[in-house]
Amino acid sequence: MDFKKYIASIPDFPQPGVLFRDITPLMSDGEAFHAATSEIQKFAEQVGAEVIAGPESRGFIFGCPVAANLHIGFVPVRKPGKLPRETISYRYDLEYGSNELHMHKDAITPGQKVLIVDDLLATGGTVQATIKMIEELGGVVVGCAFLIELEGLKGRDALAGYEVFTLMSYE
Ligand code: IMP
Repeated sequence: MDFKKYIASIPDFPQPGVLFRDITPLMSDGEAFHAATSEIQKFAEQVGAEVIAGPESRGFIFGCPVAANLHIGFVPVRKPGKLPRETISYRYDLEYGSNELHMHKDAITPGQKVLIVDDLLATGGTVQATIKMIEELGGVVVGCAFLIELEGLKGRDALAGYEVFTLMSYE
């Protein structure tokens, strides 16, 4: 399937100079949404994922259907103040300011094989923070799957040594 047909490109969103890749047209089309999640599901099976972790919020949209189809769990990776029980967190720098992500302390069992799913790989900061927390909890990251890779931002370099799966890429 030509997945790029279902991605809208929005100049200057959310700020001037950014070309935002919008996955909502793909979600709105039942066949495209099913095809995209099926591809990620095949990768999840190949790497033997036992649980899926997805960063807020678009990681939920693609990670949850794959987890449910495979009869495995889904672990949300969230911004501060959202998870109600004890969490671990990781803070990382952005071009301006910083971001912090949290996971419940008991979300992963030691040795569990974890696949990270998100909509888009840009600089890799989000996925790296997620990897750090999973590994701190004793999980084994068996792969990282994205719909879209923005090659120019070199996120893949930050993922050396990890299995990376993407459905489409832009320069
Ligand atoms: P990174 O941490 O720089 O790799 O950025 C990836 C995160 O930012 C993902 O969670 C994406 O959802 C979000 N993101 C960055 N750029 C875009 C975009 O153009 N479209 C949709 N999401 C984006």
